[in-house]
Amino acid sequence: MTLQEKALKLLKDNPLCDYCLGRQFSNLATGTTNLNRGMTIKDFLVLEFSTDLSEENLSILQCLSRSGSVLAKKLLLKNEIQSEETMRCYICEDSLETIDALAELVILQSEGCEFHTFLMGTFIPKAIQEREVELKAQVDVKQTELLKQEFNRNIGKKISGRIPVTTDFKSPNIVFEVNPFTQDISMRITSLYIYGKYKKFLRILPQTKWPCRKCRGKGCKECNNTGKKYPESVEELIEVEAIQLAKADKGTLHGGGREDIDALMLGTGRPFVFEIVNPHIRSLDLKDLEEKINVHTKNKIEVQNLRWSSRKEVVHVKSSAEKAIKKYRALVEFSNPITGEDMKKIEKELQNKVLQQRTPNRVSHRRADKIRKKKVYTVKCIKKGETEIEMVVKCDGGCYVKELISGDKGRTKPSISEIVMNDAICTELDVIEIDEIPYIQED
Ligand SMILES: [Zn+2]
Ligand SMILES: [Zn+2]
Repeated sequence: MTLQEKALKLLKDNPLCDYCLGRQFSNLATGTTNLNRGMTIKDFLVLEFSTDLSEENLSILQCLSRSGSVLAKKLLLKNEIQSEETMRCYICEDSLETIDALAELVILQSEGCEFHTFLMGTFIPKAIQEREVELKAQVDVKQTELLKQEFNRNIGKKISGRIPVTTDFKSPNIVFEVNPFTQDISMRITSLYIYGKYKKFLRILPQTKWPCRKCRGKGCKECNNTGKKYPESVEELIEVEAIQLAKADKGTLHGGGREDIDALMLGTGRPFVFEIVNPHIRSLDLKDLEEKINVHTKNKIEVQNLRWSSRKEVVHVKSSAEKAIKKYRALVEFSNPITGEDMKKIEKELQNKVLQQRTPNRVSHRRADKIRKKKVYTVKCIKKGETEIEMVVKCDGGCYVKELISGDKGRTKPSISEIVMNDAICTELDVIEIDEIPYIQED
């Protein structure tokens, strides 16, 4: 079929607006718009079939008139023939005429929200999508645009012409979705990600929000209607300042591993990526944020090295925590007196030793029961009292140090209890160093 034949076939059966006709030929002659293509094709057909006003030509001119051709209407009028009324476009139902209005609605909706890049999406009802696909099949047009793409491109262009923002397909600040048939607009703001390290100076402070187990966050007698088992967490201490500065809804801390709730986090701190959800301000001064957090938290925690990060780095921070070598300080209490010989034995036996650790009893409710192999590199013991020592343990990330000490009823092997045949428990545990695996930014 020639272009002329295809266009005639399309228009004869169904009235099409300029956009929708032009779009069926969007693979031809780049550097123009579908709107112009459609208009040009219609004008060309009018010229082609106006040489004589035979019955056949007249019916073609009338069908062009039904599709809104101004040239056809003028020609018919000149020949004192009543032109047929313009009908609604068979594909888009004239919704493409609302592009300007939709762009304005999107801009209105995004007011008060800082963004520099965006992505436009359009919801087209299934029935309408099918109509266009069927039509394309009838005249065998391939690799041409769909209505959805026409909307996305045109609305996107209008928006970036009106306000200083650009389209970004990879990581837009906001994703809009419009429904041109209902004028509904939804907007999804992309989270902000901030990398940093935290230290924790408080012995009872969980890393993340800890909802009350009884009411699951709704609030009950047990939790004093707070919905929380612990009043604060590292996450919440950072969140308060972050969401205020970013005018956001909430924050989530993605930690590179986590210390026990009763362990301090010292040394250079633990890496994390903090996600700010639904931020209305994106250009934060991270130095200012760091200061605000550190002042506000009053020595409970300290954050440092804040810098911009990404969703991808969350994965890195979490997975590298498993591999990072860590140093702990532990206080150990024995049931019987401990000798210098015992301490030497502990240091020697655990040097470069691979432990077999079955999931500890205390965490078995939330972790799969399996045996993990973790290496201890060095142990240094200092005597503190007749039955008490302080130890510095350097071991693999994810090693359960409390169980390395107690043996967890034989679930961790070997253990300090076992080595010196003297029941030991850990009374205090602090993380004093985390070896960090550097993140190499892709792109
Ligand atoms: Zn249309
Ligand atoms: Zn509760």
